[in-house]
Amino acid sequence: MSGPAPQSGRLAGRIALVTGASRGIGAAVARRFAAEGAQLILIARTVGGLEETDDAVRAAGAPGALLVPLDLRESDAIDQLGASLFERYGKLDILVGNAGILGDLSPLGHVQPARWAEVMDINLTAHWRLIRSLDPLLRRSEAGRAIFVSSGAATGTHAYWGPYAVSKAALEALVKTYAAENRKTNVRANILDPGAVRTAMRAQAFPGEDANALPAPDDIAEAFVALAEAACTRTGEVVRV
Ligand code: NAP
Repeated sequence: MSGPAPQSGRLAGRIALVTGASRGIGAAVARRFAAEGAQLILIARTVGGLEETDDAVRAAGAPGALLVPLDLRESDAIDQLGASLFERYGKLDILVGNAGILGDLSPLGHVQPARWAEVMDINLTAHWRLIRSLDPLLRRSEAGRAIFVSSGAATGTHAYWGPYAVSKAALEALVKTYAAENRKTNVRANILDPGAVRTAMRAQAFPGEDANALPAPDDIAEAFVALAEAACTRTGEVVRV
């Protein structure tokens, strides 16, 4: 940790965990949250990417983040995360479940079972495990806010996007259920569809596209701040950027 925690900003003093913070949308959300005064816990597998995000946060004058290099398929590690964050902070104010993979774009009959399982493990089951581990901490916050990143593909109308589409549709059902279970608590949970954003995943899905025509991750970070603020009253919604 370095530097004093900012006293101002829309997320001042709030503890925020962001998954998929090593690049792309998650890294931009982390930078923006820090600029708004949040104290960060950052998760991804790539240590170098997490460090880059942390460097940018520190360079902007915010305190350093807690970096947690973790493969979200490691369910036991997710369980332990809840316990160790409880010991360290006693609560969690904001959870951003952003990490995801595209998987293979191919006809359903050609999808390999192991690849199907990988997409479900990361895009769906890891989010349930995060909820299971971190819900008690979010409930200890005065205004726990959970945001999970979905996609327009969740409609299931895109040929060849089967595993990704199914994982995101199920993620939306998961988050709506979680929101319904928390209507009488201080926790609010929403789904964010960021639209097309200039990232590695988007380039993988649309290799021929002119990426410069797309919004950058920093351009859509405001939508996350709006759902992370204590003042946000929305819950159980799919919010499209
Ligand atoms: P990205 O640049 O590929 O970033 C994905 C992030 O997820 C990386 O930080 C990656 O970190 C992390 N991740 C992947 N597998 C992981 C694992 N097993 N354990 C831990 N972390 C893992 O993609 P992005 O475009 O920013 O995507 C972020 C979210 O937005 C995803 O949920 C995606 O489905 C959604 N989305 C994106 C778009 C778009 O146009 N970009 C549109 C709609 C929805 P490591 O590789 O370091 O682990």
